[in-house]
Amino acid sequence: MLRLPEFRFESPDSVDGVLALLAEHGGRARLLAGGTDLVPNLKHGIEEADVVVSLSKLGGLDEVRETEGGGLELGALVTLEALAAHPLVTARYPALATAAGLVAGPHHRRMGTLGGNVCLNTRCVYINQTHFWREALGYCLKKDGEVCHVVKGGKRCVAAASNDTAPVLTTLGATLRLRSRDHGVREVGVADFYVQDGVSNKTLEPDELLEAVLVPPPPPGLHTAYSKLRPRDSIDFPRLSVAAAFRLEGDVVRDLRLVVSALASRPLHLKKLGAAAEGRPFDDALVEELAAAAFKVCHPLTNIDGDPTWRREMVPVHVKRALRAAREHGASR
Ligand SMILES: Cc1cc2nc3c(=O)[nH]c(=O)nc-3n(C[C@H](O)[C@H](O)[C@H](O)COP(=O)(O)OP(=O)(O)OC[C@H]3O[C@@H](n4cnc5c(N)ncnc54)[C@H](O)[C@@H]3O)c2cc1C
Ligand code: SF4
Repeated sequence: MLRLPEFRFESPDSVDGVLALLAEHGGRARLLAGGTDLVPNLKHGIEEADVVVSLSKLGGLDEVRETEGGGLELGALVTLEALAAHPLVTARYPALATAAGLVAGPHHRRMGTLGGNVCLNTRCVYINQTHFWREALGYCLKKDGEVCHVVKGGKRCVAAASNDTAPVLTTLGATLRLRSRDHGVREVGVADFYVQDGVSNKTLEPDELLEAVLVPPPPPGLHTAYSKLRPRDSIDFPRLSVAAAFRLEGDVVRDLRLVVSALASRPLHLKKLGAAAEGRPFDDALVEELAAAAFKVCHPLTNIDGDPTWRREMVPVHVKRALRAAREHGASR
């Protein structure tokens, strides 16, 4: 049986209390929301902590609130189960509800939070293993080692961004509200939050708490969808995921955003495809063209399970599914 290492456990009942602990312990403190990712990572020695700070006693961060103009403020502690079923989310951003409802299994979604999903650690078949396994291999760049087993001779970890909500929040132009004791509040767009570094793919400072995700009001005629490839629909992480969002003016496509994830360390926004679709009618020819273009620029690695050649062939399949599902679901209300 894998055991948790020793650490001090704190459970403050205020945001100030959480921020004080983060400021005091910096990189040696870890925030615990639902714990569905942090706890296995601590057991595997992938993450280490002197202090684990539970967020379970914080009030007010588990709510979905409407903002001026019809956007939403989603508290970091809203569970994925609640997010997937919330009427404002299903009506305005169906892709976000779909993505939340496809994370892991029902027990994980009941415990797991939106904040934990946004801040999820990257994944790789060479790191999500026991310490014994990784030691036998000689470790790797992400933790304790000096080589990458995915990219031979590689100097940067390419562990995969595997959180389902990230690509959708990127297509929606969402913003994150982060708070620290010493620097107060800062807001950062989800697209700028993730960086291409599998060791740590977030621009989250060690003393920062993610308080809320702010989703802008849906523009008229917004269509969104999310399509996920995974071996077992009941529980697995994505082997590939595609989020799509666009507006339709009549049948004309505007502002298409296509984001593919579970490839490398950050979701990949296919901006050229958005430009190619601008002002075109939504028809089969356009869908096929975009799917073929996505295939050309997406190159899955051996960082996560699943033959990369097969995963690449699945890129156009899921691009088509996401685009057609978005079209069929109708505009956000
Ligand atoms: C078997 C299994 C299958 C899974 N499948 C999927 C899947 O298909 N898709 C998927 O996306 N995930 C999956 N997960 C991972 C996980 O369940 C979800 O990502 C979940 O949303 C994590 O949320 P949490 O609240 O449990 O996070 P935690 O485990 O509590 O935290 C995760 C990370 O986020 C940090 N964190 C949490 N909250 C905050 C905050 N407010 N501010 C700053 N940092 C914070 C923590 O310190 C930690 O580093 C799976 C996990 C398991 C065990
Ligand atoms: S991508 Fe390379 S460095 Fe990163 S976890 Fe995998 S093997 Fe390790």
